[in-house]
Amino acid sequence: MQFTDLNLDQRLLATIEHLGFDEPTEIQQQAIPAAMSGHDLIASSKTGSGKTLAFLLPAMQRLMNNRALSKRDPRVVILTPTRELAKQVFGQLRLLLANTQFKSVLILGGENFNDQAKMLAKEPHFVVATPGRLADHLTHRHLYLQGLELLILDEADRMLDLGFSEQLAQINKAADHRKRQTLMFSATLDHAQVNEFAKELLTKPKRIAIGHGHSEHKDINKRFYFVDNLEHKEKLLKYFLENETHQQVIIFTATRSDTERLSLWLNETFAEQGFTTVALSGELNQSQRNQIMESFTKGQQKILVTTDLASRGLDLLNVSHVINFDMPKHTEEFIHRIGRTGRAGASGDAISLVGPKDWLSFKNVKGFLQQKISFAVVDGLKAKFNGIKKKKPVKEKDVSTQKIINKKQIKKPKQHVKQQVKFVDDSAGEMPVMRRKAKLAPQDIEKD
Ligand code: AMP
Repeated sequence: MQFTDLNLDQRLLATIEHLGFDEPTEIQQQAIPAAMSGHDLIASSKTGSGKTLAFLLPAMQRLMNNRALSKRDPRVVILTPTRELAKQVFGQLRLLLANTQFKSVLILGGENFNDQAKMLAKEPHFVVATPGRLADHLTHRHLYLQGLELLILDEADRMLDLGFSEQLAQINKAADHRKRQTLMFSATLDHAQVNEFAKELLTKPKRIAIGHGHSEHKDINKRFYFVDNLEHKEKLLKYFLENETHQQVIIFTATRSDTERLSLWLNETFAEQGFTTVALSGELNQSQRNQIMESFTKGQQKILVTTDLASRGLDLLNVSHVINFDMPKHTEEFIHRIGRTGRAGASGDAISLVGPKDWLSFKNVKGFLQQKISFAVVDGLKAKFNGIKKKKPVKEKDVSTQKIINKKQIKKPKQHVKQQVKFVDDSAGEMPVMRRKAKLAPQDIEKD
């Protein structure tokens, strides 16, 4: 399928050509015609799959083809869970809006409320916003949504996980009229609250699930390594940075203090090689965070160390490696973290270091991915730790079976995949699927 098959306005096709996109991605192929025919949508697709254009193109098309329901009210509202994602969506929207008469604003928590009220008074057609701040503006009557034509929820699962259900309900209620169309995107459709919300917000929605609901990336080479302790993690990290060809690297840690400590250590360790590291922690104020992200995006630093704060929304095309120095507490974060590499068809490496403290998180991730996972070994850096196994009481009559199980566990190492990497069989035991709601500290989400 070509973009020209989608019945899009010539101006949009020209912009797409200018962006250098040859053909629509899978989510674009399915979501654009469905949205253009006026259906409500609930769609899942992997991070980096082109979902932003999958909702922006039909939104633009709708505005170009139809007369506004109201002259004053915004015609399209796009809600995202984080400031970073909102900025990224806004960036793509601005490209499409060039050469059109449509106006847009970006409304984020943590920025000046009065300035935003003034921008809203200029009657923009598009509002890209984080839900908390937009709900505040509604409460202050800085905008009305009776004329809203299209409500788009990007990463709805994440918005609900972050506790925005009340604000979403408020925004929905303010725009609750028959002619409104709603497009809901979520990393997974296998999320009880998303489905509940979909019933509330959507009318006879079309359901689009691209690939596996858990958004597996084929372009990302996932590798797991057992580790014994912090020192072992640092040795492996040093090994990867010294021995693997990389462009930019994002390293995820469990806590903010780990972020600070690790970035100091990296700056000391790699001072001579000229790799500079920056740390993104929630203690920074918003403009410091923006500065750090901007300089990393420009490629001024090689390594970014962060907590889950940066795992969503960043569209960084030069990240060749994501390293889970600590496994994520919340399982779905794994997908979002590794989605920072392998963007737009590029390949990427996602390395996860699994020590005793990471074991439970690893088991949850394994259950979530529903894949067989093998552990790689770096020569000279093999861990003693190899997972925590549940001991089964051995009944007398089971002794013969137990022997067979034990034999199975001592399988020979599998063949080499990379030169320095050996794979051994994973004897991790059974992996229950558990899901917890992700909760970030409020300062990590929006600052009001
Ligand atoms: P998204 O999933 O919307 O974050 O998009 C991920 C990346 O893919 C962004 O850098 C987009 O600019 C890019 N992209 C979107 N659509 C296409 C396409 N049809 N062909 C190639 N790249 C695309």
